[in-house]
Amino acid sequence: MAARQTVKAYIRAYGVVQGVGFRPFVAKLAQECGIRGSVQNRQGHVLIEAVGTAESIAAMTHAISLRPPAAAAVIRVTREDAPGDFAMPDAFVIVPSEQDGEGPLMPSPDLAICGDCLKELFTPGDPRYLNPFISCTHCGPRFSIMWQMPYDRESITMDTFAMCPLCQGQYRNITDRRFHAQTVCCNACGPALAYQSRKGSQGLDGAVLDIKANQIVAVKGIGGYHLACSPFDAAAVARLRLLKGREDKAFAVMFETLEQVRAVCHVSAGEEALLTSAARPIVLLKRKPCGIASNVYGKSPYLGVFLPYTPLQYLLLKQTGPLIMTSANVSSLPIIKDDAEMAAFFEKHSEVMGVLSHDREILRRLDDSVVMEVLGQPLLLRRARGYAPLPLVLAGAQKPFMALGAQEKNALCLLKDGFAYLSQETGDLDTEQVQAFYQDTADDLQRLLRLRPEKVVCDKHPGYFTSAWAQTLELPVLAVQHHHAHIASVMAEHGLSDKVIGVAFDGTGYGDDGTIWGGEFLLASKDGYSREGHLKTVPFLGGDQSVRQASTSAFCLMADAGIKTDDPAGKLVQAAVNAGVNVIGSSSMGRVFDAVSAMTNICQTSRYGGQAAVELENAAARAQGESGPFPYDINEQDGCLIADLAPTVREIYDLKTQSAEAVAYGFHVTIAHLIRDMCLRLSKKHGVDKVALGGGVFQNRLLLELTVPMLQSAGLTVFRNLAVPPGDGGLALGQAQIALWSVK
Ligand code: ZN
Ligand code: FE
Repeated sequence: MAARQTVKAYIRAYGVVQGVGFRPFVAKLAQECGIRGSVQNRQGHVLIEAVGTAESIAAMTHAISLRPPAAAAVIRVTREDAPGDFAMPDAFVIVPSEQDGEGPLMPSPDLAICGDCLKELFTPGDPRYLNPFISCTHCGPRFSIMWQMPYDRESITMDTFAMCPLCQGQYRNITDRRFHAQTVCCNACGPALAYQSRKGSQGLDGAVLDIKANQIVAVKGIGGYHLACSPFDAAAVARLRLLKGREDKAFAVMFETLEQVRAVCHVSAGEEALLTSAARPIVLLKRKPCGIASNVYGKSPYLGVFLPYTPLQYLLLKQTGPLIMTSANVSSLPIIKDDAEMAAFFEKHSEVMGVLSHDREILRRLDDSVVMEVLGQPLLLRRARGYAPLPLVLAGAQKPFMALGAQEKNALCLLKDGFAYLSQETGDLDTEQVQAFYQDTADDLQRLLRLRPEKVVCDKHPGYFTSAWAQTLELPVLAVQHHHAHIASVMAEHGLSDKVIGVAFDGTGYGDDGTIWGGEFLLASKDGYSREGHLKTVPFLGGDQSVRQASTSAFCLMADAGIKTDDPAGKLVQAAVNAGVNVIGSSSMGRVFDAVSAMTNICQTSRYGGQAAVELENAAARAQGESGPFPYDINEQDGCLIADLAPTVREIYDLKTQSAEAVAYGFHVTIAHLIRDMCLRLSKKHGVDKVALGGGVFQNRLLLELTVPMLQSAGLTVFRNLAVPPGDGGLALGQAQIALWSVK
């Protein structure tokens, strides 16, 4: 080939391009296109030195953008031609990674086992037949085992295992699908599985035996340990509840195949896509009548379902059938990830019959993510394994800010290079253990992303752990209003900066006027926000106890509606409210849901966060036929629209003879109508036709199904969170967005 027909180019690919089989993909591509040169992981990108014809280099550049490996997310490809003379390389090679480089660092999330590996796993004679750690360039643990970027064998917790000659050969063979697969191992090398049982049974078969004897067994996973047991044995489920201190909250069940899932649940095409995605979240599906013990799901019409994502889970489920797989911890504490932590847990809790473990270390705690499909789109309830730390594009996010979130279901958000990195959800910051996990996560992400924050953003609530911690970081602190952040979170996801009507409904958030907000209608834009409407501020009893006690909220709302109760406990509450003892004004929508749940006798006490509201929704979903809307008032006070639900409360009190399900449904219809009426009035007044729905109340599927079409047929465009949770788990994104907007 004449030298003048040959060109040399530097091609750079940015995005999630490490740990997803990108370099092997490029190497194969080079072979196909007849290109020589090299490919290399740099700190924030993959660098390709390509020598070939102009056509072949153009073809390669195209293929990189248009058909990258499935788990990659290429956000940008640049090409720069090398001027002058150059030497013709002998071949195309993968060269060792370099620490320097520019571009956003995008560590890959953990990836579920791929179809090819699954096939090999069950192929007798394969060198990885029944190997619990089989993986390739397209699958396996990533974020959970990664010390640092660039992503190499030395950078992950597999580096303690020497590769056998077979694995080494495949690792170096460009035509092999394990070419440069950093997690590679086989039956002759790699981590070892071990089972420790109180009964003395051994190995995987021992764990299977114990589970089949309806025992609880701990199983090491990707982001921590699970506790596993049969979902068909009510006694085992009851023991698991006791062990975890989890009285009512539903458990998720793992099934080996989609066919097994279809036997117990309805599965739409979108739900199937979620279930089989590389993230493998728990998906809440409508349950069919089935043999699963009712104490798995309680009164919920849904079942949390997921498919296995590790080879070990497949090996186990193949023999045991479906399993409850719940994070190994006591409720409200972080998921257990270290072997020593698990050993102490095992020692302490005799209900755990055995521990199925191995010696591949887990670096990061990651709970299973939880998602459901609403109106054809995802609704994230918990964003963790499989999603974190995938960033969201956030225009102008060049400032290294760190947003701390709020208090419950917390996650934090870091900004860098035009991206917002939301951490995995760490849980409620009410215990020292979760607080430590949260602080570790903040340090860890800063280190991994090589970022030093210039500013921290926190909630205005002075009592939150995050607000107090912000003050200790010796950085400028911006405190933002909670509901404003909920709406900004929706705006950030959809790239909105002009005025929207923000409907922020949740349980509690610190208001600018010192009262508790939670039923807010804001006019929000990049320039700030104004409170244009809200639920009427009603005196509620303060304190955590009265928030858990839904009936207390009911007695307060009834007092406001002029209903005197005969209930002895209710009389005490109403007397306290009338005397103004321990009373705080609140416009919380969450507490109204709680109150209605108690008034209809659906749930009097929440034993996990939001239980009364969840059970109200579940009851409404069981209702036959239409009911509602109930009456309500909208008044204007000093230019602010006040939504008064006292007429609704009186109606619900009078409807006591009707079925609780019908009342619950009618209440949901009422709130949907109220949202539409308020939004239409604000739309007319301000000439704005975009509505953003945010806050934990919008984790309610029925409310969304009623509200969104109603707003749309009124001519309004509706936005909601799709990539992050609408509750406080997605709040930090909104906080970060507000901080960016505030920089002029
Ligand atoms: Zn694979
Ligand atoms: Fe909130």
